[in-house]
Amino acid sequence: MSTAKDVYTFEDLRTWPQATGGIQPPPRLSVFGDPVAHSLSPEMHNPGLREAGIDAQYVRLNITPDKLKDALQELKTQNFIGTNLTIPHKAAAIEHMDDIDETARHIGAVNTVLVEDGKLIGYNSDGPGFARAIREEFSVDLHDMRIMIIGAGGGAGRAVAVQAAMDQCERLVLVNRTVEKAEALATELKPLFREGHIDGPMRRLEAISMEEAALAAQMDHIDLIVNATSLGMKRSDPEVLPARLIQPHQFVYDMVYNPGRTHLITQAQNAGARAANGLSMLLHQGAISFEFWFNREAPLEAMRKGLGDALS
Ligand code: NAP
Repeated sequence: MSTAKDVYTFEDLRTWPQATGGIQPPPRLSVFGDPVAHSLSPEMHNPGLREAGIDAQYVRLNITPDKLKDALQELKTQNFIGTNLTIPHKAAAIEHMDDIDETARHIGAVNTVLVEDGKLIGYNSDGPGFARAIREEFSVDLHDMRIMIIGAGGGAGRAVAVQAAMDQCERLVLVNRTVEKAEALATELKPLFREGHIDGPMRRLEAISMEEAALAAQMDHIDLIVNATSLGMKRSDPEVLPARLIQPHQFVYDMVYNPGRTHLITQAQNAGARAANGLSMLLHQGAISFEFWFNREAPLEAMRKGLGDALS
């Protein structure tokens, strides 16, 4: 019996029975990306599939943007259960879906596809995965918090900002290096905020630049700080925000998970704040994808262990 390759190609997908012949369990789930070799999703999903007794395995597929449409169509032909989508496909995939759920529509991106009755159904588990991660890490719901998202102009920042707005958080402050992107998102999210919260001294929805003075003016009115920038993966990266701004009552969530202890997490803990890295979001978005595919609870602990083993 042969084992699955680390990364498959579009040509493999077109000839899937030949490309994966003799591999057990049969590969019927995947992640599409370009690049994709770094994705930890197989290490998370395969232990979960085994634990759940499902006769399928999860593989990586390197799909370039020009092949996305055809690759999605191949999922139907090749009897896939579904796929995840990562960079650069999440936004582009929307137009190729037969149906799309409300969260994915608001986020404007699909990260989970279910093949059902010959149709492609698009979902987004990044936002809901973030909400579950915050509940797990800090025992609070987005609804009850005043949230600052740094990097709100990126794909991940947008997903968590939309989720926070859909969950009717107390306040939402969108921060981005290119402030125009945060301003455009704030305009878009405004209709999602229903009335009902008592207005305090600060506006409920704001977009600000990453300058220290602008950040400092917000800090007394923020409970949760989220790093959704790509800063923090490399030691040489500039800091996400000056450490002196972090207050002991705050929660700090760094979406970066490798390294596990980022500079921001160290800064937050030194300031007396509670901090967590993005591994819990990765886990919970995976668990929610599993729920979309199989309509049953995900084997969370097996998936958590798989991720932990892959990173250690
Ligand atoms: P992206 O779309 O490329 O967005 C990058 C963001 O970072 C933008 O807001 C960008 O600001 C900002 N940025 C980049 N360099 C910067 C700098 N030198 N100074 C200030 N801001 C800077 O990336 P993404 O897909 O959203 O991913 C962002 C991060 O989230 C990555 O670290 C990724 O690994 C992580 N992530 C984690 C999970 C998880 O499950 N834990 C899921 C998704 C993503 P501009 O708009 O001004 O360029």
